[in-house]
Amino acid sequence: MDKDVHHGFDTLAIHAGQEPDPATGAVVPPIYQVSTYKQDGIGGLRGGYEYSRSANPTRTALEVCLAEIEGGVRGLAFASGLAAEDTLLRALCRPGDHVIIPGDAYGGTYRLFAKVAEPWGLAFDPAPLGDVAAVRAAVRPETKIIWVETPTNPLLGVADIAALAGVARDAGALLVVDNTFASPYLQRPLALGADVVVHSTTKYIGGHSDVVGGALITSSAELGERLAFHQNSMGAVAGPFDAWLTLRGIKTLGVRMDRHCSNAAAVVKLLTRHEAVREVLYPGLPAHPGHETAAKQMKGFGGMVSFRMGSEEAAVRVCESTKLFTLGESLGGVESLIEHPGRMTHASAAGSPLEVPADLVRLSVGIEDADDLLRDLERALGAAAIV
Ligand code: PLP
Repeated sequence: MDKDVHHGFDTLAIHAGQEPDPATGAVVPPIYQVSTYKQDGIGGLRGGYEYSRSANPTRTALEVCLAEIEGGVRGLAFASGLAAEDTLLRALCRPGDHVIIPGDAYGGTYRLFAKVAEPWGLAFDPAPLGDVAAVRAAVRPETKIIWVETPTNPLLGVADIAALAGVARDAGALLVVDNTFASPYLQRPLALGADVVVHSTTKYIGGHSDVVGGALITSSAELGERLAFHQNSMGAVAGPFDAWLTLRGIKTLGVRMDRHCSNAAAVVKLLTRHEAVREVLYPGLPAHPGHETAAKQMKGFGGMVSFRMGSEEAAVRVCESTKLFTLGESLGGVESLIEHPGRMTHASAAGSPLEVPADLVRLSVGIEDADDLLRDLERALGAAAIV
């Protein structure tokens, strides 16, 4: 790729960090399944590689690509989204510091704060991120990070990234945005003032439900260096094959996201008209409280849809009645998934301020034929209503 030319998202997704292999001309970066590298004399490293925890060529290709597609300076790939989050917290915080977290977030992120970071000495407070004044009011002198998820998992809440970047700046804190639900194709937090983007690359970035991974992308080289030091020191790196699978997924991220968005819009249309459904949560709906903000900062409204059935029994029945939507955790793959957050992905938030409604159903709308997805949902909603 010509470094002086500005390239579009899909071109970067396919080429950034992925020049043909200099040794063989292979157009796809090889899987460097290797732990160590021959040195040409002590300290004489070929290509800068000495040991694969510190750096590995397949992982480097992924890290460069991640930085480019997020519009960042440095990308780092981890063994999972939570490994990336843990590394970030240890790198940027000390015991005694304070973090503002979303009032609605992935249950595993909440568990990391409540069960791992807090015993280590980190204080945190959940705040409703859709309310900028409430976030400002939650800031303390010790606040080091404002942690944002937008849209949120599983309630699809939306936070105004640019406005919260202003709050973080005034507080002398860093703005961290978990961009897993939107993906960089739909939303670029660093351009809106965020300091670090977090991903569970397990989701849309990988896109095929075949790999677990995480990423951090920074807006500055200095922050990138600090996080890279901790990545190497803590060691939760992505392995070469996982990095390769993730890179392979990224190549089609743009075309997949377009289809996720259009299929989700069709599903939302069905759900909003269906008498068995009490409420549909989707940022693309004009009545959604975050709709205007989402329209401003996102290129599309994404493939995640949640809805409420009015009772836990009805929600569970829908989840167990679909055939094409597979009952399962995770999200962002090509195949459609359905789940009950209260009993599945967010069970770890039970009894906490982040507990989710018991009648909630979450869909990860895949890229199958829309008509087939609609037929499957319509039948499951009918079955749930009959019992
Ligand atoms: N952030 C969000 C929004 C998630 O949905 C998840 C997982 O579901 C994570 C982070 C954690 O990522 P991982 O499961 O790859 O550790």
